[in-house]
Amino acid sequence: MTMMMMRRRLKTVAKGLAMTAGLVAAMTGGASAESRPAKELFGGMKLPARAAPAAYGSYAKGCIAGAVAIPVDGPNWQAMRLSRNRRWGHPQMISLLERLSKDAPSVGWPGILIGDVSQPRGGPMLSGHASHQIGLDADIWLTPMPDRRMSAKEREDLPFTSMLKENKFLTVNDKVWTPAHARLIMLAAGYPQVERIFVNPAIKKKLCDTWTGDRSALGKVRPIYGHDAHFHIRIGCPQGTTGCKPQAAVGPGDGCDKSLAWWFTDEPWAKPKKDPNAKPPKPPRPMQLSDLPKACAVVLQAPSPDSELAATYGGGTTTVSALAAAPARANEAVPAIAAQMPDVPAVVPIPLPRPAGY
Ligand SMILES: [Zn+2]
Repeated sequence: MTMMMMRRRLKTVAKGLAMTAGLVAAMTGGASAESRPAKELFGGMKLPARAAPAAYGSYAKGCIAGAVAIPVDGPNWQAMRLSRNRRWGHPQMISLLERLSKDAPSVGWPGILIGDVSQPRGGPMLSGHASHQIGLDADIWLTPMPDRRMSAKEREDLPFTSMLKENKFLTVNDKVWTPAHARLIMLAAGYPQVERIFVNPAIKKKLCDTWTGDRSALGKVRPIYGHDAHFHIRIGCPQGTTGCKPQAAVGPGDGCDKSLAWWFTDEPWAKPKKDPNAKPPKPPRPMQLSDLPKACAVVLQAPSPDSELAATYGGGTTTVSALAAAPARANEAVPAIAAQMPDVPAVVPIPLPRPAGY
């Protein structure tokens, strides 16, 4: 063996060892997993943790074990943006969505289009939301379900319809908003397990100004940035669970008060004042696995069910793969994440301390 050959062989062995070390670190969740942002770890999960359903932590800092997927289609619903793989939630959340879809026609809403629930194991996401981390949040489009089944591609591409006037500050557009929109939101707010509904301040104001029915659930409807093309349903921690951190209950009253009026002032929309001499602020450190409840490290490592179907609510037959494989759509691949559904506008004016209760 020449010197050259020997060197080359040594090099190959060293390379192999380095690769093995990397692989072991990744498999054991060693240093490399610890240092990766939690959104990468949870965002890469394709299937839930096979375990009893449990939400750990809080809505914007936690994870979920034993999540189930809402089937892609139901009698009165269609799930949207399937490529995002965010149809996963606590079974109580998923059954509430089923209930809402069943009840919707009674208020003149033909069926619901379901946006993001959570990732298979919850946790922070690579794009979109701060909350939706523990399987107890879900987004519903403010677009009624069409009377036909959409293809996977249509579900990616269907644009959002804002309920707001384009050229007028915080004003609902009465050309797109209907009384049925109001009835759907109030129907959702009326379920006892629903603790909060998030809508754009203009939508909350519209409800305050026009809702003539029972107003006792109106206080659960909270104004927030964005949320002009969808509304967000949040249920409380499931009873009997210990790891789920509840949110304070909303205060009494319908919320059509100064906490709403605040949104119509400049304060929530003002750009933060810049000190020309100040150093640019450091970008916030992304959430790490160690920032989440300890249980979330276990959730991340837990085994998966055998398939998406095995973890689909009600043993549904309409999984993403089934829809993608349907003969009429055989040539349509589900495209990569296209449009996002951010909870907040791209440029977020961060307000000064908000009135309590959000
Ligand atoms: Zn949401």
